[in-house]
Amino acid sequence: MIWNKEFETMERKRLASMQTGLLQQQVERIYNKNAFYKGKMDAAGIKPSGIKSIEDIEKLPFITKSEMRDVYPYGLLSCDVNDIVEIHTSSGTTGKPVVDAYTQKDIDIWAEVMARTFTMGGATAKDRIQNAYGYGLFTGGLGAHYGARKIGAMVIPISGGNTKRQLQIMNDFGTTILSCTPSYSLYIAEVAAEEKLDFSKFSLKAGFFGAEPWSDNMRREIEDKLNIKAYDIYGLTEIIGPGVASECERQDMLHINEDHFFPEIIDPQTGQTLPDGEKGELVITTLTKEGTPLIRYRTRDITYLNREKCGCGRTSVRMHRILGRTDDMLIIRGVNVFPSQIEEVLLRIEGVEPQYQLIVERKDNMDCLEVQVEVNDAIFSDEIKSLEAGEKRIEKELREALLVHAKVKLVEPKAIARSEGKAKRIIDKRVF
Ligand SMILES: [Zn+2]
Repeated sequence: MIWNKEFETMERKRLASMQTGLLQQQVERIYNKNAFYKGKMDAAGIKPSGIKSIEDIEKLPFITKSEMRDVYPYGLLSCDVNDIVEIHTSSGTTGKPVVDAYTQKDIDIWAEVMARTFTMGGATAKDRIQNAYGYGLFTGGLGAHYGARKIGAMVIPISGGNTKRQLQIMNDFGTTILSCTPSYSLYIAEVAAEEKLDFSKFSLKAGFFGAEPWSDNMRREIEDKLNIKAYDIYGLTEIIGPGVASECERQDMLHINEDHFFPEIIDPQTGQTLPDGEKGELVITTLTKEGTPLIRYRTRDITYLNREKCGCGRTSVRMHRILGRTDDMLIIRGVNVFPSQIEEVLLRIEGVEPQYQLIVERKDNMDCLEVQVEVNDAIFSDEIKSLEAGEKRIEKELREALLVHAKVKLVEPKAIARSEGKAKRIIDKRVF
């Protein structure tokens, strides 16, 4: 099933010419309406008339999260403030929040791309979507809500938290689809197991999980524990919220809605554009956004692109699920380590739960990485000797995968704090 056949299966040549037209309009608009963008373009020596094709996007300067913070709250507005109908922001836990302001047209596009997302995973008007993303300034809740409404599904706007109630509602109302962060879905499964609830007796069939990077092994855990198909969805507050890209039923990379969000992959060190298939930092330009358009936003997410046509019939470029973040990347004794690599290794090992935390410290000028990971009851109740053997075995596998030593500590079930939103995986105690 394809929500919008015209745009999702558009012939690529026609798509590129449409993208060129949209980029030209966007650049013209921001140059004339936004002093911050005009200043950046003047400094880079590029005028709107210099954009002749979509490839010319490389002439435009990047924008970073810290620049967005510098112009908080309204510095990126590229329309009249009275035309803004809704505001969302990032959490702002690490500084001033970034602001996403939407006109009515922006909200309509958000609903459209989230309708495509749900449809890609097989959802229809007959589904009952339990939306356990947080509602509020966070984009997850309302973004999923608008898309679910657009396809005509029944929305259960429960928001995050109150897990026993989530299960009660899921059971009582016959929820067929769950949307939340992947880590929260596992917590829901854990509480269900404590309550002796059996998911095979529920109507749940699929889940749409995003807002944090997760691995394929974690997908298998979720699918197994909740008895569903689990789809990865990708989005970020700065761009629009959820709805930038999502997996189709083949679960083979995420289709980017590139008639609205133009992707590039760059080398994070040099800023040079990289060819398809090469790993680098994802950069996104909003081609149609009116409220707070972004030109070449550096997402800090690491992925690569594939322009081959997908078996589902969609022609849109696909991105690999996020491999890591440039700012999540730990540099341990000079080696780049991503939490997702560690997760892949851990979840291959029997008896290990998808709950872990990485603690980095500096001792005698040396970086020390400790991986704390939960094991199930059966393993934890074994004698110390076999726990130690388990730790050694995981250390060996991690060393092979990461090329750097990590100390492993197996901890008892439920020792690691659970999250109802994004999981906190890294505790970096180093002072730089
Ligand atoms: Zn596909």
